[in-house]
Parts: sequence; structure tokens; C-alpha cells
Amino acid sequence: MSSAQERAKALAQEMKRAIMEAKTAEARAKRLGDEVLLALAEAKKEAETVSTIVEYPIGRYECKQCGVGSIFSQTYRELPACDNCGSREYVGAEPTITKITPPPPKKYSSGMYECTGCRTRIVLAEDTDELSPCDVCGAYKLRAV
Ligand SMILES: [Zn+2]
Ligand SMILES: [Zn+2]
Repeated sequence: MSSAQERAKALAQEMKRAIMEAKTAEARAKRLGDEVLLALAEAKKEAETVSTIVEYPIGRYECKQCGVGSIFSQTYRELPACDNCGSREYVGAEPTITKITPPPPKKYSSGMYECTGCRTRIVLAEDTDELSPCDVCGAYKLRAV
């Protein structure tokens, strides 16, 4: 076999390997894409549910069931059970309720975007008013997919 033939053979092998690697990377990117979408959906749900915070202040509480007094030296989202009878109802327990007003919606919501220039997919992890340029070609032409 001539040296040129040898070289062609080696290059062919290398090309085959590169293609295999690209396929593996593509499958991995796809899987990561699916996972990131799930995580984003979860984050959105969380942001919607945490809209009020209930907090019981530090102070003296009296058990509604058995009348035993307890002093809570820390604030609670949910009052602990009475040491004496296990009840969770107290007299004089007035929680402070803080309502969290969600921030105004941003122009672009988190999710999967595609560059209309080079078709690269980009994940926007957070809502934003301004899109970044494409990682690959630098174009400011992302659209939601
Ligand atoms: Zn009690
Ligand atoms: Zn691009």
C-alpha cells in the first residue's frame, strides 16, 4: 500500500470516529435539552406557588387544647406541635402574611430558543427583556421554539 493510501485510510478512520462522536454529542445535547425544559417548567410552577408567606412571630402562645403556654423563640412558617398534647392549634397565634407580588413579566420568557441564522438551539434559563446574541454565529435573531 502506498503512503498516500495509508494516509487516506487513517483519515477515513478518523472521520468515522468524528462522526460517531458528533452523533453521541447530539444525543447528549438532546437529552440535556429535554431535562432543561422540565427544570424550567418546575421553576415556573414554583414561582407561581410561592406568592404568600405565612409567618408566626416570636412570642408566647397558649395551646388551644390543653392550655399549656409555649414560648417560641423563632418565627415559624407552621407552628410546631404542643409539647404537652401534640396539638397544633394555639390561642393568640396570629401569623403575619406577606404577599409577594410577582415581578412584571419580562419580554422573553425562559425556554428553548433557536437562532434563525445558524439554527443552533439555545436555552434561556431566566426570563429576560433582552436576548443575548447567538453563541455560535453572534446574530441577534433568536426565536422561541
Ligand atoms: Zn397542648
Ligand atoms: Zn446563530
